[in-house]
Amino acid sequence: MIIAVLSDIHANLEALAAVVADARREGAGRFACLGDVVGYNADPVACVDLVRGLPCLPCIRGNHDEMAAGDRVLLGINRQAFDAMTWTRGQLDAERRAWLGGLPLLHEEPDAVYVHASLHEPAAWHYVHDAQAAAASFAGQSPRVCFIGHSHQPGGWRDDGHGAKRGQGESFELAAGERWLVNVGSVGQPRDHDPRASYALYDADGGRVRLRRVAYDVAAAQAKILAAGLPEQLAKRLG
Ligand code: ZN
Repeated sequence: MIIAVLSDIHANLEALAAVVADARREGAGRFACLGDVVGYNADPVACVDLVRGLPCLPCIRGNHDEMAAGDRVLLGINRQAFDAMTWTRGQLDAERRAWLGGLPLLHEEPDAVYVHASLHEPAAWHYVHDAQAAAASFAGQSPRVCFIGHSHQPGGWRDDGHGAKRGQGESFELAAGERWLVNVGSVGQPRDHDPRASYALYDADGGRVRLRRVAYDVAAAQAKILAAGLPEQLAKRLG
């Protein structure tokens, strides 16, 4: 079974559609979504509905999903995220917001665990940017692989029992005696100077994870952001 692991779609329908098509071509029979379905881009309703229609493991809640579902005053986020989240709340009806708010913080299977940010205090949305943060997440991990998103920076960490080390390349073998923490990157707003959508293909039987990049119609997504009156910087950022 090949599982396509998606994260940080952020209401980018063009990127999501391209990734789903690519994953199906690559033989994915199931999908896993690590959250942040909404926020930043212009298609929150269509993206929620598309994700809900996928043959998916339980979709995980991200910090933007949580903000979109609630009605608390938005604190601790930058101006663009604030404006986009205020707009996003206005687009989503009560039923879709309730769906986002009811998503679980993590989903664990015998071979893999799925969480938005880190297994270390999942509700605190810690970023895994260094070996120390990776080690904190590994401390809560039993299955051989944990999939995360949140930082929008794809890459892998390996723990062979002697600390967390960065995995090399874009394909990781899940060897016996090792555990892996794989950041699948962002479908809808990559932040690593590669504008293509990012996701991962998990070959559960073969014990292998492959990071994938998919070109999509960036100009169309940018035009929708501007047409919706969302901050211009959010359109520029996609390029
Ligand atoms: Zn995100």
